[in-house]
Amino acid sequence: MQTRRQLLKNAMAGTAGLVLGAPALRLAAQTADATGNVKLADDLFIVRVPGEASVLAQTSRDGVLLVDGGSAAGSDAVLKAVSALPNGSGKIQTLFNTHWHPEQTGSNEKLGTAGATIIAQENTRLWLQQNVAYPWNGQKFKKLPKIAQPNKTFYDNGTLPSGVRYGWISDAAHTDGDLYVYFPQQNVMAVGDAAYGQGWPVVDWWTGGWIGGIVGGLQRIQSVANRDTKIVPARGPVLSFADITAQVDMYGTIYDRLNQMMNKGRGPSEAVEAKPAKEYEAKMGNPDEFIRRSAESLWAYLSPDA
Ligand SMILES: [Zn+2]
Repeated sequence: MQTRRQLLKNAMAGTAGLVLGAPALRLAAQTADATGNVKLADDLFIVRVPGEASVLAQTSRDGVLLVDGGSAAGSDAVLKAVSALPNGSGKIQTLFNTHWHPEQTGSNEKLGTAGATIIAQENTRLWLQQNVAYPWNGQKFKKLPKIAQPNKTFYDNGTLPSGVRYGWISDAAHTDGDLYVYFPQQNVMAVGDAAYGQGWPVVDWWTGGWIGGIVGGLQRIQSVANRDTKIVPARGPVLSFADITAQVDMYGTIYDRLNQMMNKGRGPSEAVEAKPAKEYEAKMGNPDEFIRRSAESLWAYLSPDA
């Protein structure tokens, strides 16, 4: 087993090479239909319901596979949108949870009750089995009933009979249970919140995410993907391999700055004041919340007893 420190070191060593990477190669225009859905292949769609995180649906006459299922409040609308897809009206056989957050697991109860196989990394199941409260804003999350919990978990990776591959993003980019689902035939990879398509990511260090893991997680995504893979985040547009490279560069730079400050004993408020993301603010928006959580995540991860 590599320690988190080693993983990070490897991740950062990789960054140096990737900084020189190709200029941003934009994906061909992403055509959304009138509903907002995006067709990635004849049997693969991004379902976008306003206010909901993206859901990836693979449809067939034999049934449907989903990566994430929206929030509990949006579940009905998400499932209705799925059933309206070409070959989308069959039974939902398989549901992946990319991580435990309620924006992703709100259809678990309905689909679990209907007999779907709910696949998640084991850490995701563990979080869904307990109540969670964030220390930074007091937000509380109730554990899910048994029927809604993932009923097929794994530690490292797996392959479905259809050839779809899935695996743990063990760097803890967003939580400690992040997973990717890779569709080799369509060359599409769903990554949940381990990569963001828009805005600054939530750094949920309470359930394991951290700024070093964002960098390592993005590089792990690249190690499974190839230059032509369409990478589907839970938020924002589809990302290209080059988009991920640019993110590795940006988060690696911010990580370096925060790490230097932490080594000098600077706390999260001082980190925010130092504006370690200043050259990215015009494009990305106000980073204060992201920087504060990132600095806290470093303390949580790298302090001796963490
Ligand atoms: Zn999330």
